[in-house]
Order: sequence, then C-alpha cells, then structure tokens
Amino acid sequence: MNEIVITEVTVIDLRFPTSRESIGSDAVNKDPDYSAAYCTLETNSGLEGYGLTFTLGRGTELCVMAIEYLSRFVKGRTLDSLTENMAAFCRQLTDESQFRWLGPEKGVIHLAAGALINAVWDLYARAEKKPLWKLLAELESEQILSAVEFRYIDDALSRAEAGEILKEAKRGRAERLSLLQREGYPAYTTSVGWYGFSDERIRELCRKALADGWTSFKLKVGGDAKDDLRRGRLVREEIGWTNKLMVDANQRWGVEEAIRHTRELAELDLWWMEEPTSPDDILGHARIRKEVSPARIATGEHCHNRVMFKQLFQAKAIDVCQIDSCRVAGVNENLAILLMAAKYKVPVCPHAGGVGLCEYVQHLAIFDYLCVSGSMENRVIEYVDHLHEHFSIRYGFDEEGICCRRWRDTASKSVRIRSTAIAIPMERCGKANS
Ligand SMILES: [Mg+2]
Repeated sequence: MNEIVITEVTVIDLRFPTSRESIGSDAVNKDPDYSAAYCTLETNSGLEGYGLTFTLGRGTELCVMAIEYLSRFVKGRTLDSLTENMAAFCRQLTDESQFRWLGPEKGVIHLAAGALINAVWDLYARAEKKPLWKLLAELESEQILSAVEFRYIDDALSRAEAGEILKEAKRGRAERLSLLQREGYPAYTTSVGWYGFSDERIRELCRKALADGWTSFKLKVGGDAKDDLRRGRLVREEIGWTNKLMVDANQRWGVEEAIRHTRELAELDLWWMEEPTSPDDILGHARIRKEVSPARIATGEHCHNRVMFKQLFQAKAIDVCQIDSCRVAGVNENLAILLMAAKYKVPVCPHAGGVGLCEYVQHLAIFDYLCVSGSMENRVIEYVDHLHEHFSIRYGFDEEGICCRRWRDTASKSVRIRSTAIAIPMERCGKANS
C-alpha cells in the first residue's frame, strides 16, 4: 500500500509588517501588513502540501479558523480520494450545508477554501514529481473538465464548449512549451509605484527597474486628481513612452468619478485602468469601459467567484481579466475562469501583488498559455519583489524544464517569469532561499 494519506492539517497566521514602509499601499488600503493564512497538509509519506490565502493583516485569524474548520474534509483521506473527483471535493468545501450560509462562495470561507484546495493541488503535484503547471498541462482534457464546477456558469460556457477550447489548444502546444522554456512568460512590476512612496523613491525604483530589464510598470492612483496626474507624468519621465504604464485605483471611485478620472489621466497613454470602482459593480464597469474607450479596463483580484467573472464577460465590462490564485476557490475555480476568458476572448493578466501570489499565478498563466488561450498577446503576470526572502522554493525533487523565478531576457531586454513550485515559508523549512 503506497497510498498517500493526509494525517494532519496545520494552519499558521503569517504576518509581515509591510505597512512600516508603505509597501503594498494603495489609495484604499493605506497600511497593509502583507499576510497569509498558510496551511500545510502532512501525510504518512513524508510529503507535504502547501497552500495559502492572502490577507492584509487584521482578519487573518478568521481565515485561519475557517481553514481549520474545512480541514475536516481532507484530514484522514487519501490523496487519490480527493483528486479522482476534484469538483466533488471542491463542492464539499463550498457547499457545506451550514457553513455555506456565511457565503456562499465569497468572503472568508471562500478564501479558506482556496487555501485548502491549492494545498491539495500542491500535494498532488509533489506526489507526481511535477511543478503544478506541468501537472495541469499533462492531465487529460476530461480530467481538467472534471475539476471544473459548471454549476452556475453553464449558461455561458458549457462543458462541451470548454472541451472544444482544450481540444483546439492542443495544436501548437509543443512549440509553445519550447518557446516558454526559451523565453519565459512576460511580467510587469508593481514594486515601483505603491501609493505611499515619495516622488524620489518612485524615481529611484523606476530607474532600478529599468536597469533590471522591466518594460511594464504599474502606479497606484486614486488620490487627488491633479496629484495622480503629476505622479503619472513623473513615472513617464523616468520610463519614457515606449514602455507600458498601467494604473490601479483599487476601487477608490464611484462610477461617474471613475469615468472622469480615467479621462483626466488619458495623456499618460495608459495600458489599462485597474479596479476603477467597486469590484461588485459589473454594470458600473461596463459603463466605465464604454465611456472611457479606448482606455482599457481591468479587474478581478476582488471578484468573489466564477459567477461574477461570468457576468463581467457577458456584460463586456472588462478588457483584462485579473484572476487571483486564492481569492476564488483555488486552482479549480480558476480553471473555470480561464476557460470562460478564452471563450469571451478576454486576456488574463493575473493579480499577484501580495505575498505568495507571484509564485502561484505563474502556474496558472503558463497553463493558460499552453492549454487554454494559447496566446501571450496582451498578457503579462504581475510581479512584486517584496518578501521573497522569507520563502524557500523547494520541490523535494529535481526541477526540470521551466524552473527559475524571474530572469532577464537579454535579447528582448524584458523581465520574464519562469515557473517554480508553491513556496514554503522559511520558518517551516529553516533554510534561506538560495
Ligand atoms: Mg490591483
């Protein structure tokens, strides 16, 4: 018997005092302490699976408690019993008959489900001795489809349509993998433009990022309109006009304010305006998009679940779909969103501006490129360089293929991402990242 049995689930409340230096700050979240509710699945085999959900500090303990509650659905079970029907396992977490009342499929309980589901996928990948992206890419289409919960979205994307998308994306996959291994996946940096940074610091960080090869930059806006424009001009002075600039208002405005402010920033030649208004306002996003065209509208990091993404696509409310690896119910729900985005032809540029998220989203973006959208056009992964020193990337097996975290492509002078495994906090492994 070599069955892997999950014997224990431990959850830690992991917090970093990033607010001291305004790292991660934006117009709405002015003093975030980047944090994670971090869970570890222990097994009888010595293998462990790791999963997290991202928070801004206070409230992490609620996520920890929710993960501890949901851990009853994995503890004592074999890995096979979870992975043989992933959609059924997810539904156990998201559809628990009393706990469900707290959501459903939103808020603290959904963050907790995301952490636990991702931990199961991480364990699955480690058991198969593959990075997650490779595990996903090598699954049969039927296995991918059986991991997707089509309930509530099959009016927009049927299982048959999703199967066709996967089938279509098989063409040219080997060439795309080879290109990915050679050139990586394009990324952009948010680290230069946090809201609480001084002008001098923004200038200095832009210069450093340019020297490091970055070609796409994001600036936090949402303050006084004139000041936003001044800071945007400052970034343009540093990065020039051939590099890309995106701005992020982090839900700061009402719909009409958002239209006004986005138009006022038009001279900055924005690649996208992110989260201009409430993340719940689907029709508001649709109106903003229509009235500020050709400015592109991005959102998704605060989108509760696949149903909201479905409506954003149906309402033609966004130009850029920003999945988050653990806001929704982990890998499974993101598979549903990637497939819907492919059907509606909306590029996916994952959100990763929080601790641990940069590691996660690489796998999803690479899977999207290899097996779903088949395209890198208008697609970039978010990257922030804070807090990586607190994590160690260890597979426990030889890495193969795509294996670096971030590297400079000297030919194109841009920064690209190669995939790693899901990170382990140093306090668990007692070893600095090499
Ligand atoms: Mg954002």
